[in-house]
Amino acid sequence: MKRIFLTLAVALVILTGVLVVNTLRFTPVEVIPQPVETTAITPDGNALAQQLSEAITYKTISFEDGNKDNYAAFSAFTQWLEDTYPRVFNNLILHRINEHTLLLQWKGTTGDAPVLLSAHYDVVPVNPGTEKDWTHPPFAGVIDDGMIWGRGALDDKSAVIAIMASATALLEQGFTPKRDVFFAFTHDEELGSDLGAQSVVKWFEQRNIALAWSLDEGSFVLKDILPGMDKDIASINVAEKGFLTVKLTASGEGGHSSMPPQDTAVSILASAILKVKDAPLPGGLDGVSQDMYSNIARHMDFGKRMMFANLWLFKPLLNIVLDDSTSGNAMLRTTTAPTMLSGSVKSNVLPATATAVINFRLHPRDTPERVVQWVVNAIDDPRVTVETTEAFPASSVAPSDNQSFADLASSTQLVFPNAIVTPGLTIAATDSRFYAKTTNAYRFNPMVITNDDLNGFHGTNEKISIENMVSAVKFYTSLIQKQ
Ligand SMILES: [Zn+2]
Repeated sequence: MKRIFLTLAVALVILTGVLVVNTLRFTPVEVIPQPVETTAITPDGNALAQQLSEAITYKTISFEDGNKDNYAAFSAFTQWLEDTYPRVFNNLILHRINEHTLLLQWKGTTGDAPVLLSAHYDVVPVNPGTEKDWTHPPFAGVIDDGMIWGRGALDDKSAVIAIMASATALLEQGFTPKRDVFFAFTHDEELGSDLGAQSVVKWFEQRNIALAWSLDEGSFVLKDILPGMDKDIASINVAEKGFLTVKLTASGEGGHSSMPPQDTAVSILASAILKVKDAPLPGGLDGVSQDMYSNIARHMDFGKRMMFANLWLFKPLLNIVLDDSTSGNAMLRTTTAPTMLSGSVKSNVLPATATAVINFRLHPRDTPERVVQWVVNAIDDPRVTVETTEAFPASSVAPSDNQSFADLASSTQLVFPNAIVTPGLTIAATDSRFYAKTTNAYRFNPMVITNDDLNGFHGTNEKISIENMVSAVKFYTSLIQKQ
């Protein structure tokens, strides 16, 4: 008996020792400062604000039924870019793609693989009925209290302006990159990018140009995003989730509702939806999400660090805790969201068929085919058919242990010295899914945003601070000088 206690006590001491040592060694990852000499640029915040303000006044709106009637605004906007940034247009080669997407090529001095900075200048419409909710009109470009207001201020004209202003500042200093640096300003991101980003990818493929990497929207420097975390999180996203929409169709006996059978198309469908909801795709900490949470946890208190430093022991517990929040759940697994329903067109008529639409956002570990099979198995009812209406897989994962990521990370740390820089996963779909087919695609806008700012995306009172515009120019000028 005594011996058992002794053995247990020794085991406990060893276990505690291992946990503590692992935790003490679990310290923040240092981004090694780049040896590349970069000249600090001091951007003029007021000039940047004025430029973004003017850019916002062009109604480059992508309407669901297409931009056909609206192309005059797109042409006027690209003309405005040429007039506002003459130095860039005089020194870089302009390739127009499908007329409205601009691809600018800054010739480098060596034959090293080029890089691509991409941003889109089309914007979503203002939701009908919400015009009056805006503090300042969405297309007036009002500058008030250190903020520039309007549609596109965050998504994504601010990036277009910051990149153009950066190139202008560097050209004024006589800078020439070593490798070719391309800028793509695309015009149909909000419509699926057929004529913009997808055509940009084709342009490079047709010329056999292999990019070293691309950078586009898809994440920010996130402030106050995690409770109890006083540092900002600069999540440079190295992958994005895929997308799958399936339509469930349940069949039953139609007829009058006064004498219904036991199971109707609607009840069969309802039970199918519940079965899918109750069978979430398996998930958990691994790959990009594990890297991200681990990097952040290195800056947390001893208790949290201990858990992430000892995943061999605590992973099951962490999976439960993270799963509990909607954002954690979205990082850890393929999410399931029933979105549309239809049945009978009349209250006293039993429909012969009822349909539901379920949207999944695919974690990199799941393919569309696997998820469809998962759904079929979960429903397990021949009266329900499952049909894929739209699908694309999660992107490949760009490396975070190479020079490209180090360049991005060190430029981020230069501008945001108090932020935790980490690779991350974009849970929505961005143009980088096209770029990722041919190169290492990174997703990041060098601007600090809060949860509150996120409401402005495709919503009301979209705005950005002048300070953010200044930060963005500091970031891009630093990054470009490393190329
Ligand atoms: Zn966008």
